[in-house]
Amino acid sequence: MTIPKHDVREIFDRAIEHTRRLSPATFDQWFGGVQFDDLTDGVLSLRVQNEFVLEWVRDNFLPTLTEKIRELTGWSIQVAWTLDSGLATPIAQRTEVAPVRPRPIAVRLVSPPISGPPSPRLEIVRRMPPPDEMNPKHTFANFVVGPSNQLAHAAAVAAAGGGGRRYNPLFICGGTGLGKTHLVHAIAHRVYEERPEARIIYVSAERFTNDFITAIQHHRMDEFRTKYRQSCDLLLVDDIQFLAGREQTQEEFFHTFNALHALDRQIVVTSDKYPQNLERMEERLVSRFSWGLVADIQVPELETRVAIVRNKAAQEGIALTDDVALYLGQMIRSNVRELEGTLIRLAAKSSLTGRPVDLAFARAEITATSPPRAQTVSVEDIQRAVCHHFHLRSTDLTSKDRHKSVAFARHVAMYLCKQRLKCSFPEIGRAFGNRDHTTVMSAVRKIEAQRDSDPQVRAHLEALEKKLAAEE
Ligand code: ADP
Ligand code: MG
Repeated sequence: MTIPKHDVREIFDRAIEHTRRLSPATFDQWFGGVQFDDLTDGVLSLRVQNEFVLEWVRDNFLPTLTEKIRELTGWSIQVAWTLDSGLATPIAQRTEVAPVRPRPIAVRLVSPPISGPPSPRLEIVRRMPPPDEMNPKHTFANFVVGPSNQLAHAAAVAAAGGGGRRYNPLFICGGTGLGKTHLVHAIAHRVYEERPEARIIYVSAERFTNDFITAIQHHRMDEFRTKYRQSCDLLLVDDIQFLAGREQTQEEFFHTFNALHALDRQIVVTSDKYPQNLERMEERLVSRFSWGLVADIQVPELETRVAIVRNKAAQEGIALTDDVALYLGQMIRSNVRELEGTLIRLAAKSSLTGRPVDLAFARAEITATSPPRAQTVSVEDIQRAVCHHFHLRSTDLTSKDRHKSVAFARHVAMYLCKQRLKCSFPEIGRAFGNRDHTTVMSAVRKIEAQRDSDPQVRAHLEALEKKLAAEE
């Protein structure tokens, strides 16, 4: 089938219009440097200024473009490229902030087998192996976004080339177990998925150090430098605080950083501290860490914690009721890793014992295993909350009053002290009008038993726990 020239041009324009919709801004930046020459019998001839533009256009827009042309013409499409240095440089190559640059790779367009689908197929001849040490579950899809990590998340998506302003370097900092490694893995997964030819290096700072030492020992510094400074499109370094006091490694990393930064290759660094708080770290490195964006991750809010628990449960196929998700979110506050660990442990015990993961079970497990927590709530706080809840006077709990309702409130307060503060029985006894430790023990046991058998008691405890959680 032959198509008249002016129709061919129109087909190309329509396919271009369709492709441009994917990402108009990026498209204009790059396609500005591409010229249409011809489309005859399934061969699309394009002219570009240099190989760099060719690769970018080919990797990012070509599949969509050729698929559309195939749809309009019924041809399977091959592309013939012409390099023409006389063409204008596209805007993207002139601006400072460009997407992570791909490495030149060998790609060939393969015609489909006779019986196969009629669309052209890009065969990437050298697909890079995925980076080491990565957790396949640490993806953007599995990351719960909340106010505590919103900025770091958005910056990570941008660093992976997903739009938004890209910062180089991106420095992600925050306390342990708050999702730094997860985000860095997510960047690597995303880039690997979308640009399998990109050379991604993910290393812990410890691994970087060890690599460096080994390279020195075996006189292989050239190889080391080629790997980190040249053969790398995306460098992700986890836990940079590990370099504290390691002067020679810092020096090497400084030069690695400079080399990659000069090539506008994306660098992402994580740390448990802000750059300026890193100890025994060279000043010039610290200052470079702040060149791009410093994005911190804070302890997640209750809603985010509950969402993380739910998300994890769904991922692991654990049936979880809302009250247990809420309870876990309330009880485990400072560390997402611990939150997940508790959930997994509960599920494991549940499947071993056949006991459903319900509130009583979750409570018993947390009480049994949680380490003593920082005492932000005091005995007095608990006594005050209990008095308020049962409408008693502040002296009632420490008095000799043995009236049933007062005694019950006193037992509840003792139970809460034991559970939340990890005080000893004698300590609690002293705080409740110098009562004997055996009295406290039996009060705590009584409430524990009622908690598991009496919904009303459970409701009182829940209300009080919520109130105390809010005070912390
Ligand atoms: P860090 O590197 O900051 O110490 P990690 O990235 O190892 O923390 O996170 C600890 C655990 O918590 C991981 O299993 C991770 O998947 C999970 N996690 C942390 N934040 C989130 C989040 N926002 N959404 C889902 N999972 C999270
Ligand atoms: Mg980590």
